[in-house]
Amino acid sequence: MARPVTCLLCRHDRTEVIDSLTPAEVGRLWNYFGVTLGAEALASFQGADRITQHRCAACGFEFFDPVLPGNGAFYTDLQTQVARYYPGDSPSFLHAINLAVRSGARDCMDLGCGDGGFLDLARSKGIETHGLDLNPKAVAAAQAKGHDVHASTAEAFAQSHSGRQFSLVTAFEVMEHVPDPVAFFRDAARLVAPGGHLVISVPHGQGVYRWWTLEPCQWPPHHITHWRRVDLERLGQQHQMEPVWFGADPLRGVQVRLSLQTQGDLEHLLGRRASKPGRLQTEALTFLYRAALCRHYLHWGTSLHAHYRKPAA
Ligand SMILES: [Zn+2]
Repeated sequence: MARPVTCLLCRHDRTEVIDSLTPAEVGRLWNYFGVTLGAEALASFQGADRITQHRCAACGFEFFDPVLPGNGAFYTDLQTQVARYYPGDSPSFLHAINLAVRSGARDCMDLGCGDGGFLDLARSKGIETHGLDLNPKAVAAAQAKGHDVHASTAEAFAQSHSGRQFSLVTAFEVMEHVPDPVAFFRDAARLVAPGGHLVISVPHGQGVYRWWTLEPCQWPPHHITHWRRVDLERLGQQHQMEPVWFGADPLRGVQVRLSLQTQGDLEHLLGRRASKPGRLQTEALTFLYRAALCRHYLHWGTSLHAHYRKPAA
């Protein structure tokens, strides 16, 4: 009998299986995008023979089993082989920085800060910058730019800096990487000063990734969980963080084309379809998407954003 799998969000133990891949198949998906994972990075799979995607029968949250977070070598491989793996700007950064300026934030803590892209922006607005990341190469790069960055988890940082809190805490595209997202959210919320703000972004599970399911970033050891707006709302309620704003990026025509083309190619690569998708069909669907001006009313982009406020003491 199959071993029961526990939901990473609500701890319910009944799930529906959606898909599964072997580690070798995940490696081939990365190869398609020009990334070769080294032996040390492949150790992230911890000898698992198959990775299974589940949907919780109680709350609908989607996650993978076994829980296989990427190790430092895995992220170093991505940082060196993927162009702009750590973005210098993004719509999430702009939303958070506008908020920080409006609310008069003195300092910020960016969890999973990478090489400091958001911290650069925050410092340019006169905000004191702090960050945490587990990739040693990224930490060194952020420190070299003068940011106060530590190779640490939020939990370990909170323990060693007792009571330290910040006007603004951010976590851009981080929560989907961590093995225990509820604990991560709890630790992030603890670092927010009373009356301060928490801004989180995650890949949009109900946007483009609904059909771009084989994009390798969406599989372990990169992402361990998939997120919907309702999941982010529930986390806020559970941790007494007031919801301020939830939103999603628009989906551009170029992303529609890329997702349709590469999803078909990847299905073909894994032997799930006989031939690659026709260029004409992809172009026609992209044309229709653009012609119907879908990006203005369908919020199907790549990221979901959540902004919470911690009640004043
Ligand atoms: Zn659940």
